[in-house]
Amino acid sequence: MAEQLICQRCRKEPATVVSRKERFSNDCFRKFVSQKQRKQMMSDPYFQDIFKVMYQDRFRTSKEADLQNMQSTVLVPLSFGSSSLVMLDVLNDTLTEQKTTQRGKTGFQVDLIICYQTTEEKEAFKELAHNIINTRYASNKEKFKFHLIDLDSFFSSSKDCLRVVALDARGATAIKANYSVEPSNSYNLKDLLNQCTDRTTREDILSFIRRHLIKKFASQHEQRAIMWGHSMTKLADETISLIVKGRGSEIAASMDCSKFDEDYNSSFKNLFPMKDILLSEIDAFCLVAKLDEFLYDYKPQDTLLIQKVQIINDTKYSTLVKNMTVNEIARKYFDDIEGDYSNVISTVVKTANKLAEPQSLLIEKERSKKCVLCFSNIYTNGFKWLSDITINEGVPIEDDAEREIFNEWKNSTIGNKTEGYNRATELVTAHSCDVPVCYGCIIIFNRIKERRLTWPTKSKSELEGVLDECVLTDDES
Ligand SMILES: [Zn+2]
Ligand SMILES: [Zn+2]
Repeated sequence: MAEQLICQRCRKEPATVVSRKERFSNDCFRKFVSQKQRKQMMSDPYFQDIFKVMYQDRFRTSKEADLQNMQSTVLVPLSFGSSSLVMLDVLNDTLTEQKTTQRGKTGFQVDLIICYQTTEEKEAFKELAHNIINTRYASNKEKFKFHLIDLDSFFSSSKDCLRVVALDARGATAIKANYSVEPSNSYNLKDLLNQCTDRTTREDILSFIRRHLIKKFASQHEQRAIMWGHSMTKLADETISLIVKGRGSEIAASMDCSKFDEDYNSSFKNLFPMKDILLSEIDAFCLVAKLDEFLYDYKPQDTLLIQKVQIINDTKYSTLVKNMTVNEIARKYFDDIEGDYSNVISTVVKTANKLAEPQSLLIEKERSKKCVLCFSNIYTNGFKWLSDITINEGVPIEDDAEREIFNEWKNSTIGNKTEGYNRATELVTAHSCDVPVCYGCIIIFNRIKERRLTWPTKSKSELEGVLDECVLTDDES
């Protein structure tokens, strides 16, 4: 065998993957990725406490140690994309290793949460979950529990807290959001998505709903941490996308792993254990570890593999750029530079990790400083900023010619739409109060039909609302 094809780590096995200018064999590459993930899992005493096997010591009796091992549960959102699957695989290896080296004991259990939108998705996820647990993870079966959650739970679990929120754009100097008291009882996710006028808005709303449900689930089930499978590439694309969407102030909070999540009862911390691993490395892991048979709607890239395993017909970017979401454009940029300029990606993530939340909230007089839509902190008055740079006041009609043109507009499609919107807003504003909305969500509102939507009010009872959950059991196949 030629010298250059030998793994540079073990110097024995043939090299199969090239990453960060180094050649790896299958085993050495899996170890390389796995170590990066495990390093994050041991990054501070809180997480060490979760994952390590506890024994009797001066703080706890042997019974207490066993109990702690049993009750130490993490929540893993699983999308059956490459990142969450690889993360799960490393967790499974960790459990196996603990069992062998710690006389059958393990330090933690894993709750898996799978969010689905349609019945077809639910069935497909169930089958994949069933397959993976009965084959690949069969020896650690008792450590994993699968929960399937309907995304519609966002509405169904918070029926009593639903309100209609509308953006009032007619007040010439200010744009206001208002709560009305009577939302329709049958309002669901489909209605909401039908109201979105473009893909970015749809995807943004869906990813918010998914994240909210996962965190709500964690706060209800006493998991100690949520392990998000975001790769370094994904975190970089999130960072840039948040900036583009006018949500830069959310970056620090969205990546924080040090504090308990205050918005969800402060009962868990968020962890991004894959944040040092590039997406191309995760995809390569997926292929060399033969995880690809469990993927759903995802094609791993073989860019780092020495022997290409498949011809990927690249339909991913066949979408016209103008139809791509902000996140897709950011992702395409990072995908394009991942090969030669991957240090740009780590610079973006490292910089994002250094950001802190602004010191003080700027809107002092508001009753609440949280956005009613995305629940994030508001630091800048987006309404004021927008009205300062916009002229909303129309010029009064002065003569018959102008009146004629106005009437023509009024009877046109756009005119009808505007009139309809004005009437709808009037209905909402009749019984309403002003509520805070962040700049990013003002933009979302403007891309929603009639600029109003039905949304749960963030409250204790909303957080306690029972989710439509289905637990995967053995007798289901
Ligand atoms: Zn090797
Ligand atoms: Zn918001």
